[in-house]
Amino acid sequence: MPTVLLIEDDDESRRATSDLFSRDHWTVFEAGDGEVGIDLALKHHPDVILCDLLMPKANGFQVCRAIREQLQPTKIIVISGRDYGVDRTSALEAGADEYLVKPITWDLLSSSIERILPQVPRKPAPGNNGAQFHTPSTRIKLWGVRGSIPVPGPSTVRYGGNTSCVEIRADGEIIVLDAGSGIRSLGIALENEFGERCVKLTLLITHTHWDHIQGLPFFLPVYNQKNEIRVLGYEGARAGLGKILAGQMETPFFPVSLRDLPSNIAIEELKEMEFEVGAVQVRAKFANHPGICAGYRLTTSGGSIAFFPDNEPYELLKLYIADRDHTSREDAQEFARTERQKLVEFLFECDVLIIDAQYTDDEYQRHIGWGHGSLSRVVSLALEAKVRKLILFHHDPSHDDEKIDEMLERARFLVVESGSPMEVEAAREGAEVWLAPKLAPARL
Ligand SMILES: [Zn+2]
Ligand SMILES: [Zn+2]
Repeated sequence: MPTVLLIEDDDESRRATSDLFSRDHWTVFEAGDGEVGIDLALKHHPDVILCDLLMPKANGFQVCRAIREQLQPTKIIVISGRDYGVDRTSALEAGADEYLVKPITWDLLSSSIERILPQVPRKPAPGNNGAQFHTPSTRIKLWGVRGSIPVPGPSTVRYGGNTSCVEIRADGEIIVLDAGSGIRSLGIALENEFGERCVKLTLLITHTHWDHIQGLPFFLPVYNQKNEIRVLGYEGARAGLGKILAGQMETPFFPVSLRDLPSNIAIEELKEMEFEVGAVQVRAKFANHPGICAGYRLTTSGGSIAFFPDNEPYELLKLYIADRDHTSREDAQEFARTERQKLVEFLFECDVLIIDAQYTDDEYQRHIGWGHGSLSRVVSLALEAKVRKLILFHHDPSHDDEKIDEMLERARFLVVESGSPMEVEAAREGAEVWLAPKLAPARL
């Protein structure tokens, strides 16, 4: 009997797929995360491995690399909800034989297996042809709110031109979300505030696109040996976090290398999707964005904050792909609904949501598949998740202050129309939000 290993962290989806293979007389092994997947692959040498892309412990790219190094004949099919060219290329470079985009039907799957592994005898599975794979007070301060590239200048004076960086002070911790160009001003402020004292902070990186890490070489605290800086993030598509952060500081890009920085910097790759920074609980969820990109939800004693600086809602994207590829619109819609529900659950009743709202609805029509959000989709997501305060983030570099005013007005109109009490703001450099238990006075 042919053997298949399913590596997928969504139990329901993995079981549904397992049933299909079993009915088709395959021996099935199952793994709920990438590390277990690698172990089972090396133990059982399956004919085919179906591997999800976004998983805890080891992502699909890491699984492909690890398995490909040691198991040549095994065929690997990477399954992903995303259809970004860069993901497909990275998966194939990492050793995958095939890259399929969810939702997956049995017909598509079995024809792919037949193509890459023609010697395995198989029969169609009966029935199912539409299965899916599937502080006392807390202070938030925005130091960089822009996406893609810094755009300082007269047209961006009010909202700011620096790229992604948010500081959270809660429960005795300083947590910095992303190291875009906004982190430069934060570094100066921290050194002024702490003087000779140690600045101890945790930098949580969502992903290593340049607009989220480009400020690190200009972050003053890394140049002082009194400071302790912990950098956390998930491995990227092609290289480890440490390697990427060091890469942007190598000659000829920068005169000082990361290893020569005098402060105590510890770079740690995250494996788990839930962890703690001191007393702050952190949960992570992978975003729909090219490469490996996470969003975080921080639970502090003052309230909860979710940060999704780069994320594209699935709804229109999946329909667009279905129409383009002449695949089932119903399956596409079902997949998008399921993924949206997971995100709604992740964000449910958070006090502050800082999220990618880069495009107007019209602009989004021309940027479907670019990995960013659109205004009305983001508002409806926040409403459904019963978020208390929505902060529109990752402003497009082409948007001047007036354009962002217009988008904010539109977002507020949509919220009023819905009857929800949710507050909406557009992220503004230098703005602060304070959260306190029970009472949550906010100013932005
Ligand atoms: Zn970005
Ligand atoms: Zn990005």
